[in-house]
Amino acid sequence: MIDLRSDTATKPTPGMRAAIAAAAVGDEQRREDPTVNELEERAARLLGQDEAIFLPTATMANQIAIRLHTELGDELIAEENCHVFISELGGPAVHSGVVTRGLPGAAGRYSAEQVRAAYRVPAIHSPRTRLLWIENTHNASGGRIWPLEEIGELHALALELDLRFHLDGARLLNAAVALGVDAAEIGSRFDTVTLCLSKGLGCPLGAVLAGDSEVMGNARRLKHLFGGAMRQAGIVAAAGVYALDNNIDRLADDHARAKRLARGLAEAGLAVDPDRVETNFVQIDVAPLSKEEAMARLAEQGVGLSATVHPSVLRAVTHLDISDEEIDVALDAIPRALGARVSA
Ligand SMILES: *Cc1c(COP(=O)(O)O)cnc(C)c1O
Repeated sequence: MIDLRSDTATKPTPGMRAAIAAAAVGDEQRREDPTVNELEERAARLLGQDEAIFLPTATMANQIAIRLHTELGDELIAEENCHVFISELGGPAVHSGVVTRGLPGAAGRYSAEQVRAAYRVPAIHSPRTRLLWIENTHNASGGRIWPLEEIGELHALALELDLRFHLDGARLLNAAVALGVDAAEIGSRFDTVTLCLSKGLGCPLGAVLAGDSEVMGNARRLKHLFGGAMRQAGIVAAAGVYALDNNIDRLADDHARAKRLARGLAEAGLAVDPDRVETNFVQIDVAPLSKEEAMARLAEQGVGLSATVHPSVLRAVTHLDISDEEIDVALDAIPRALGARVSA
């Protein structure tokens, strides 16, 4: 099967497996795992922050970030379809007792004006608006990128309103590579940054949360509290170090393949807008088919796509394990499965 369901589908390459096998390890909880320490130092620099902590998942990184910045009853503002609202169960309520405010977005983004309107002036009966959150790239909208100027505006607003500012940068490196900027130029504007290692970077698991040293001191305590403190975790962190060395620049290949897939599908008459493909996601509106019917037909043709939150939109996601040849095959199989005309 050509697995375009998600960039989480990647399997460790021989080079990554060799790095895993050769990893120097120690007890991570005692800060004695040299490979974890190296990954944390490198990730902090990459993200433009003082310090980073290694975690099993980006979900845990996000949930720790919420706990770090809030007290019971505080309010978290984010775009309504962001991962933390639609794919982490009720984490903000369960782990941190936080109320959430979802702003309607365009391409996953909301404006500074929307935040001003949503912000609650401190009052004895109001939840405290505390945490402002963006997702970059934005998953549910199809891997869309936040422009740097807009992030700068929100950063200034967060300072003005005394809000903490978090970046769910599970796919931050896709944004940085697509924009041609250092990830630190984006990451340094936030109080905390989540980066996922098991998406486009190709690791079997892992994530980091980065911030200033004081905040990260608390984050290390929460890592224990949330059950994320490990032991000889260098076995996994070695994959992360390998990915930072080898798998960042190549994200541009995934983006080029997604663009080519989108153009070809649009030419075949499918409801795809190549102009919306900024990174490694292609969204296809399969109406009048249902998402389930469309996925079943695609599976018969040997192509895996997955559903989005939208009623009739599927996504195809390119990644390390998808080659140019597989894009060629997908360009034939997807229109065939969905009943569009097949290009000659
Ligand atoms: C995948 C994802 C996460 C969670 O990552 P895991 O490592 O799978 O827990 C968080 N945020 C976004 C935007 C994601 O796409």
